[in-house]
Amino acid sequence: MSARLAGKTALVTGAARGIGLAIAEEMVRQGAEVCITDIDRAAAREAARAIGPEALALRLNVTSAADWERGVAAIEAHFGRLNILVNNAGIIIPGNVEELSEADWDRTMEVDLKSVFLGCKHALPVLARHQPAAIVNISSIAAMVAGHNFAAYNAAKAGVLMLTKSVALDAARRAPGVRVNSVHPAFIDTRMVDQVVGGDPEAARAKLARQVPLGRIGTPRDVAMAVVYLASDEAGFVTGAELKLDGGLSAM
Ligand code: NAD
Repeated sequence: MSARLAGKTALVTGAARGIGLAIAEEMVRQGAEVCITDIDRAAAREAARAIGPEALALRLNVTSAADWERGVAAIEAHFGRLNILVNNAGIIIPGNVEELSEADWDRTMEVDLKSVFLGCKHALPVLARHQPAAIVNISSIAAMVAGHNFAAYNAAKAGVLMLTKSVALDAARRAPGVRVNSVHPAFIDTRMVDQVVGGDPEAARAKLARQVPLGRIGTPRDVAMAVVYLASDEAGFVTGAELKLDGGLSAM
């Protein structure tokens, strides 16, 4: 069995399902211990139980500074270390600027952008104690390619792109064993895609696939494999980088 993450402990947010769950599962396959965190406590517990003894479940609302403080301390106490943070939890609220309510704008910024600020803020001192370490932020291709109906999501994910670079440069000065990168997936087959496309899910997926040069939408595992690379010591010279996972979409 491959052990690209042997001896490492990871915290993955929003890991009860979808992309976060695939990342947690792949990290365990690669030899890591993982803390499955999510706002949905029951789903996080179920996911951790299904993975096995290498996984711990913790309720962590990514918009709560108190949850971050408690969560990071609990993981360091339980596993004796924290080497990897994956800021994955996110939401999408479609709408152009005229349709979006102020509350929807604020909520998107809280869950998709402030969460990454809080995660980096509270995990960095701990990661610095357990170098080599890495942060991987799950942004989106929406950080670089806009949609007419995703004003808040586009803006929040673009914020994650630049926040990642700022944190990477800061870490490089103060804790050079901590690398910070972002990944930018396009359409990935999860509940979030269902939420956005509406109608018949199969027909909608086929339509999305036709827009992608590689001719298919992505899988959660496509994202997980890229995150494993960035989190591993194989990526030791990679920091402040953005990795597009879009089947060629943004190359057009
Ligand atoms: P998903 O909706 O399937 O899963 C999101 C998870 O985050 C859920 O388990 C949910 O309970 C959790 N969550 C939501 N709010 C939270 C909060 N406040 N605190 C903690 N957990 C919370 O979505 P997904 O498709 O797996 O998306 C994961 C990430 O990937 C998101 O950041 C999303 O923006 C990004 N992304 C997804 C796609 C896609 O096509 N699916 C494409 C690009 C980027």
